[in-house]
Amino acid sequence: MTGKALGLAVVGFGGMGREHVHKLGGEADFQVTGVFDLRAERQDLARKEGLHAYGSWAALLADPRVDVVLVATPNDSHATLSIEALEAGKHVICEKPVAMNTAELDAIVAVATRTGRIFTVHQNRRWDDDYLTVRRILDDRTLGRVTHIETRVQGSRGIPGDWRKLARHGGGMLLDWGVHLLDRLVFLIPGPIVKVYCRLHFPTGEEVDEGFHLFLTFGDGRTALVEVGTRHFQTLPLWMVLGDRGTALIHDWNLQGQMVVVGQDEGDAKPIVAGAGLTKTMAPRSEAGEVRIPLPVVKGDVGEFYRNVAAAVRGHEAPLVKNTEVRRILALMEAAFESHRTGEAVTFEAEA
Ligand code: NAD
Repeated sequence: MTGKALGLAVVGFGGMGREHVHKLGGEADFQVTGVFDLRAERQDLARKEGLHAYGSWAALLADPRVDVVLVATPNDSHATLSIEALEAGKHVICEKPVAMNTAELDAIVAVATRTGRIFTVHQNRRWDDDYLTVRRILDDRTLGRVTHIETRVQGSRGIPGDWRKLARHGGGMLLDWGVHLLDRLVFLIPGPIVKVYCRLHFPTGEEVDEGFHLFLTFGDGRTALVEVGTRHFQTLPLWMVLGDRGTALIHDWNLQGQMVVVGQDEGDAKPIVAGAGLTKTMAPRSEAGEVRIPLPVVKGDVGEFYRNVAAAVRGHEAPLVKNTEVRRILALMEAAFESHRTGEAVTFEAEA
């Protein structure tokens, strides 16, 4: 850390606001000055946890000790709160999804530019171990040329019974989890995304999407499947990465999984009996014909996000999470919603 700690106030002391306060406790760059939540019980909880609870949003903004405001409220309030904080001369960290649409984000960025303040988004899952491990697999080229990536999260509990179920608050799984999965995927397959095809799912009839399948085609012909489900009582692996020489599977957040790559040349396979027929194509390889390799596990440190924001506020570094990156993903989700609405694949970016 260089210089004195930056004052940071949190608006929205729900699950994520509280998590930020706990994490920031370990970061010397920041001193939490207090929190503000619309609900009295959350204000009480903050006080019980030894925090200052501002009497109002205006009081938080008027506190000269506050250098940075962290917005951790439901999605539909991100734009208004971020703009008001920037207008008050504060830097802003905003929770994901940054806003309800690209028009809202453009309005925020215009104010950040005019006021000369940092505005960045908490895309914390760029520091997840599973994602960083997939990045390492691609960097090491262990699987040969990667041609297709599947990234997914699946649970069975449905959407939590809060604002996440309501369209007017920006609920639904594409905005909630989709934003994380897409934000990371585009670093794995660089270049334009030419086509987007999406089906949203409503298995229990909620008003917002409870899950989705999203299929992307990149400019170089590579493809990706992004999948979120909240009604899956059995689940598929978090990641499947297909290369021309091997396959990687990561099953869960404990990083169970492995890579299997091609071994000795076995020539043509002998047919096996499969179901009511014979197959050579799907015959398994022999032991010598494949090599099992442990995952090159990479451990992430999400503290890097906060330390980078502090360095950006002090003018030493550019924000790691760039507004251009965040805008591209928001536009991609808009294309996905359009694809669901029309039932057609949507052309997204021109081929390079
Ligand atoms: P939550 O419902 O637990 O908490 C939101 C809090 O904001 C509530 O206590 C509510 O009273 C308060 N609030 C609402 N409007 C307000 C306003 N105008 N002013 C002050 N307080 C207000 O929700 P959550 O799970 O904490 O989610 C909050 C944000 O964090 C969402 O944008 C969500 O997408 C994001 N989030 C991010 C991650 C992540 O890993 N990055 C994880 C969970 C949630």
